[in-house]
Amino acid sequence: MAKETREGETRVALVPELVGKLTGLGYEVAVEPDAGRHALMSDEEYAEAGAEVDHDAVATADVVVSVQPLAPDAIRRLKRGAATFSFLPVNQELSLVADLRDVGATSFAMELVPRISRAQSMDALSSQALVSGYRCAIVAAGLLRRFFPLNMTAAGTVQPAEIVVLGAGVAGLQAIATCKRLGAVVKAYDVRAAAAEEIRSMGAKAIDLELDTLEGSGGYAREMTEDRARLQMERLAPYVADADALITTAAVPGRQAPLLVTAAMVEAMKPGSVVVDLASESGGNVEGSVPGEVTRIGNASVWGGRNVPSQMPGPASKLYAQNIVNILTLMTSKEEGAGGTFAPDFEDEIVAGSCVTHDGQVRHEPTREQLEGPRESSSEGSQA
Ligand code: NAD
Repeated sequence: MAKETREGETRVALVPELVGKLTGLGYEVAVEPDAGRHALMSDEEYAEAGAEVDHDAVATADVVVSVQPLAPDAIRRLKRGAATFSFLPVNQELSLVADLRDVGATSFAMELVPRISRAQSMDALSSQALVSGYRCAIVAAGLLRRFFPLNMTAAGTVQPAEIVVLGAGVAGLQAIATCKRLGAVVKAYDVRAAAAEEIRSMGAKAIDLELDTLEGSGGYAREMTEDRARLQMERLAPYVADADALITTAAVPGRQAPLLVTAAMVEAMKPGSVVVDLASESGGNVEGSVPGEVTRIGNASVWGGRNVPSQMPGPASKLYAQNIVNILTLMTSKEEGAGGTFAPDFEDEIVAGSCVTHDGQVRHEPTREQLEGPRESSSEGSQA
């Protein structure tokens, strides 16, 4: 396991309590010194669990796991043909993909694991979104200078806080559930048809804007047209203005996060209001939110999310490590006597879908096209 080197990354890809799962599969486990420090996991704990703490762990391993993609110098140190597992946002990291290709690495991107039921236990986007959603609710509760729950006391009644959540995917639903547990009154909106029922099942009120639903492929949302975006903003404005806290988690795969709330909509909020924008890093659902900062827009404090799962490194690492162990289990030979043999079956939908580079080639076609251009047609008659 590699030590994370990107600024602000506090998670690790393997936790001591899961080392035994990998040794049980027949692997020898090595971790770079100090890898778990930010997640409060010591070298001693890894060693006690059966891992070797080794400066050369990355250079000598057949399989290297990390949270963030390896840095270029770590990629250069990989053994020829080594496999890597990490988040690897291919659109933003084309040069790293080229490096991985050029050193002959078999690289897998955790965000490309297909969202099919068989792959749910390997779905790191979902496990980390769960952490983010929870954290967003806790941040909103912390920033808001009033109670979330209703309080009926001898001295009088304190009304509960009203929260609006926009985007009810994995993170949004977890934010709703957490706000509900804290006793707030929650309203939520999402463009997907199935979302209203999911929102209600969490005990929140589904906001109906009387707009068409926007279902894309694979159950994801589609991008909004300009007209639709304008109408949605107009109809959401009164809900935003009434909220004590607004939490936004909307995303469209492969695109910038949709802008859902303008600065003018935030300016219309009451004094002391709070806005938590989980999508801040990927463009922002809220105009003017800044990743990693709390800014002031009108009367509201606006919190922009930046690597939010890293704010809870222990549980986020454990869930991610579980995803890694599960995907490695899938790709480990089941043949007797072949314990610890990494043997991905490229016919398997999960292996094929998540593989980015293999054997000197970019296997993820959209990324290959971006790097190398369209394949030359071999059809007859193409000669001028
Ligand atoms: P996501 O992170 O891509 O997006 C978050 C939410 O934002 C989504 O619910 C989306 O509909 C919503 N959104 C997009 N544009 C919006 C807009 N303009 N206004 C309001 N909301 C908007 O989503 P996700 O959390 O990854 O989940 C997306 C879908 O995938 C859901 O249907 C979820 O149930 C499904 N899912 C399936 C699996 C699986 O089968 N393994 C795992 C996780 C999620």
